[in-house]
Amino acid sequence: MPSFNRPIYLDYAATTPVDPRVVQAMVPWLAEHFGNPASNTHAWGWEAEEAVEQARSHVAALIGAQARDVVWTSGATESNNLAITGAALAYQDKGRHLITLKTEHKAVLDTMRALEQQGFAVTFLDVQPNGLVDLSALQAAMRPDTILVSVMAVNNEIGVVHDSAAIGQLCRQQGVLFHVDAAQATGKVALDVQAMQVDLMSLASHKTYGPKGIGALYVRRQPRVRLQAQMHGGGHERGLRSGTLPTHQIVGMGEAFRLAQLEMAHDNAHARQLQQQVLAGLADVPGVVLNGDATQRVPHNLNFSFAGIEGEALMTRVSDTVALSSGSACTSASIEPSHVLQALGRSHPLAHSSLRISYGRFSTEADIAQALACIRSAVLALQAISPLAVPAGLGFVGR
Ligand SMILES: *Cc1c(COP(=O)(O)O)cnc(C)c1O
Repeated sequence: MPSFNRPIYLDYAATTPVDPRVVQAMVPWLAEHFGNPASNTHAWGWEAEEAVEQARSHVAALIGAQARDVVWTSGATESNNLAITGAALAYQDKGRHLITLKTEHKAVLDTMRALEQQGFAVTFLDVQPNGLVDLSALQAAMRPDTILVSVMAVNNEIGVVHDSAAIGQLCRQQGVLFHVDAAQATGKVALDVQAMQVDLMSLASHKTYGPKGIGALYVRRQPRVRLQAQMHGGGHERGLRSGTLPTHQIVGMGEAFRLAQLEMAHDNAHARQLQQQVLAGLADVPGVVLNGDATQRVPHNLNFSFAGIEGEALMTRVSDTVALSSGSACTSASIEPSHVLQALGRSHPLAHSSLRISYGRFSTEADIAQALACIRSAVLALQAISPLAVPAGLGFVGR
């Protein structure tokens, strides 16, 4: 294995560490209890099935659902594909129009684009400069042939929290299915598929201290939501997702979600404390801008742009000390600013100079202090040699 000096981990929005309690819960199901949960002729299968069903009830409890409405998948990417493509194909006789936001995760956007190739019409809605959906624009985009609206609960790049309950109410009034990608929301905001009138909700384990490669889709039964399966095989998971269930992964996600419910208040209080520390530590940096609404956000994710500098140069300077994400993604030929920051209307240079700092359960004040010192000195050094003027006192305008 290659060895790297490992920087302070402040990239929780990309994936969280697996909670040691989760690891401990998983190991027996990987080691001695290896039975196939679909084996119904012997105790090896029965005990695995029981563990799977207990985990299903933990996942359901976190979102106010019934256990039988939860379908295991390989993660939120697969859940988004199953929810959107599955509903589009099942309801295409009713209509062939879908609505989403320009700031959704690629797993939603690319699924929508694939449907366009199959003759569906998709509206990709702009967001407001604070990153939040405009409900009147959403309502105006609805057509008689609209079958599904997909709006995430919490944005992965900038941490803003959409008003899922208001969107759900609007969709229910119009008779349109409402899908929520909640990968970044579990354990951070209270979720209730009944109160929010959500029909389909995508969940991921590894953004909430569980293992990678396991997720779930909530599929409403009353009123019943029909889906066309995307994976064909043994008819597992009510025929919606065939494939042998990975008991150890499922047990891990179940334990992670059980802990998330127990510890949400504590985790959020801790994140709010770190958020204050980050905001205080960067507030006087010239030309700093907070991306996304200043208050309607989770406290775990702060995305800043720094006027006058290049994000890539900044990343080069800090990456030995602190693990962060930038708001740019290298495509084959060029570095493109993130589609989310562009949708906020950030100028190209500001969209190019962004950093996402995300933290959580295992982050400490000492981690943040060390990271802040490094980021501050890197930004100031780059601004000092920058040919671009740095506007003084741009300050923290979260819009
Ligand atoms: C991480 C993430 C996904 C993808 O989830 P996987 O489980 O990694 O497939 C989808 N949507 C959002 C908002 C995410 O943050």
